[in-house]
Amino acid sequence: MRSPLSDSDAQLIDAASDLLVRAHDADAHRVAAAARGASGEVYLGLSLRSPRVSVCAESSALANARIGGEETIEVMVSVGLRADGTAVVVNPCGVCREVVPAIAPGIRTLADEGGGRVVSVEAGDLLPMPWVRARTYE
Ligand SMILES: [Zn+2]
Repeated sequence: MRSPLSDSDAQLIDAASDLLVRAHDADAHRVAAAARGASGEVYLGLSLRSPRVSVCAESSALANARIGGEETIEVMVSVGLRADGTAVVVNPCGVCREVVPAIAPGIRTLADEGGGRVVSVEAGDLLPMPWVRARTYE
């Protein structure tokens, strides 16, 4: 289900955008994320890039929330930087669409539904048919 953004959703976008404008580095940090816990606290994350492997900003924000003692993470957003230096909402990659709801069940994501229109999306709508195992191995 998609729904319009709340004021706190817009503030979360601003928090991620402020971080990325400050910390963007094409070689090391291309994406920033912000997650809001049930406490209302905001946790930030940055992508980590190296020549061989990269780690998404979403994982960093989730880890920060857990380190901060947050048990429930309600909403997350990620932003990238356009060539003109403007931060815009970017949608999570396939790995994050699996990892984020596994760590934070029930989380909402702020996502671009097209044309720069950002909406709030339930995790199940980002990955409607998640990967499943044929069986469980010991
Ligand atoms: Zn990702």
